[in-house]
Amino acid sequence: MSAPNDGRPPWVPAHATGWKSVTQNNGMPVPLPVTDMSTITNPLTGVRVPGPSLRTMVNNLAGTALSAMQHVVHTGVVFAPESVVNSRLAICESCEFLDKNIYRCLKCGCMMKFKAKVEVAKCPIAKW
Ligand code: SF4
Repeated sequence: MSAPNDGRPPWVPAHATGWKSVTQNNGMPVPLPVTDMSTITNPLTGVRVPGPSLRTMVNNLAGTALSAMQHVVHTGVVFAPESVVNSRLAICESCEFLDKNIYRCLKCGCMMKFKAKVEVAKCPIAKW
């Protein structure tokens, strides 16, 4: 299945229901916000719940970026093989902490379509 050609960013999956089409801004497409990023839909209850704090997300991102840089220096490898990415995403898709509308993890706040591609990335609760 190919991605819809409606200007959605790559982290918004094709089946995402909350996606709104782009608007025009001086002829340039502008993606509208998909959702309030401070909350995440709990997949079990469908209720919006607070996500990780901005501080936690910045710490997570900085930690992953630092680990990735160290890994690149030592191995020259940035991205995980496709089979590993697919395996990680399969685990996330069955995880109770994934907001499936935008593929965002409730635990770390990361966009999993991106994070799963980073070789040294880790699940915050060690599922992968
Ligand atoms: S990274 Fe871990 S906690 Fe987050 S959605 Fe994936 S499996 Fe669940």
